[in-house]
Amino acid sequence: MTLKLLRDTMRTQLAEQGAAPEVAEGYLSRWDAALESDSGAPLPCPGCYLQGTVSRLRRMPSPAGVGMLECPACSAAFEFPDFQPAATTQGIWPTRP
Ligand SMILES: [Zn+2]
Repeated sequence: MTLKLLRDTMRTQLAEQGAAPEVAEGYLSRWDAALESDSGAPLPCPGCYLQGTVSRLRRMPSPAGVGMLECPACSAAFEFPDFQPAATTQGIWPTRP
């Protein structure tokens, strides 16, 4: 599941936004929980998480090979390579509205 590749991006996002380490850790725990199959837990938006709310990132239509997530609450969008080998970490970047 290539969403795992986004984890490092999210960690960087949180650090850039000044998240305390324990806050970032809590966020990543939620991220990991969401990726467990059938957990039903939302993939949390990092920006909203820092505001104290958990917004469910949703998949957006995207070209083949690219995955896109968008936050319906704050409109943050995240793009990542989809169906790529796990070793590929370059080319993952967050896009801002
Ligand atoms: Zn958000």
